Amino acid sequence: MSDKGILYLVATPIGNLEDMTLRAIRVLNQVDIIAAEDTRQTLKLLNHLEIKKPLISYYEHNKITKGNYIIDQLLSGKEIALVSDAGTPGISDPGEDLVKLAIENGINVTPIPGPVAAIAGIIASGLCSGRFVFEGFLPMNKKVRKERLSQIKSEIRTMVFYEAPHKLIYSLNDMYEVLGDRNIVLARELTKKFEEFIRLTLKEAIEYYTLKAPKGEYVLIIEGVKEEILEEEKIEKWNTISLEEHLQIYLDMEMTKKEAIIKVASDRGLSKRDVYNSIMKK
Ligand code: SAM
Repeated sequence: MSDKGILYLVATPIGNLEDMTLRAIRVLNQVDIIAAEDTRQTLKLLNHLEIKKPLISYYEHNKITKGNYIIDQLLSGKEIALVSDAGTPGISDPGEDLVKLAIENGINVTPIPGPVAAIAGIIASGLCSGRFVFEGFLPMNKKVRKERLSQIKSEIRTMVFYEAPHKLIYSLNDMYEVLGDRNIVLARELTKKFEEFIRLTLKEAIEYYTLKAPKGEYVLIIEGVKEEILEEEKIEKWNTISLEEHLQIYLDMEMTKKEAIIKVASDRGLSKRDVYNSIMKK
């Protein structure tokens, strides 16, 4: 048996206090220390739950020094609960680094699951939730943000983003420019009094937020590219070169003529016979 402590990752509500789980309450009552991203916010929750525990801050700008302190405490046998500002630690907050550090030090890490804004948003979005990708926050810098969007332009799965209200319009503009017009669901103020699901296209969302200032917290859920569109784009790309040039690319890759014809036919959505006949005619 290890005499090291345990790091608990405790999910807390993203707005509605009733979403606190019984297990999360028990663990917060049981640990020696609670490490919180925002101690003031967590103190409100602890007061509400009538839990009194030593609180330390652990956030983006002190995560190196405080991370080492937390690991020392865990190594000496203390049990520590990490809580974020809201939701699940490790999802778009510095929890990820502490988990890595704990594992490197042979400390057990136990999740105490609960609310995650991204999951709450996608399950009620009405877009495909069977397969999706979580992108978190887009980069602040416009150029880097557009590069990131270009990387996921051909993603067929639903994409989930976090966004702050004051950056929403910039992200929507870049999304429209890079991804084209797509369905988007803007899930705002989840689990709170003014919870709302705004279902629009990217173009409509830009118009909407040009007239109305965004308020509250947002999860953006965007549909993936349709496979037919991806297929059309691929075919369009190949149509910019001649059949002979296309065939030569595969012959240069040391394919046999028969293999190259099969590849060209598949790339262009043609039959093998059509490709063969066109090449033979010339
Ligand atoms: N760890 C959190 C989680 O599990 O969802 C996310 C933390 S991240 C720093 C904060 C972002 O989550 C916000 O900017 C917003 O995009 C999203 N978010 C958090 N609470 C939300 C809510 N009630 N409604 C909509 N989005 C929310």
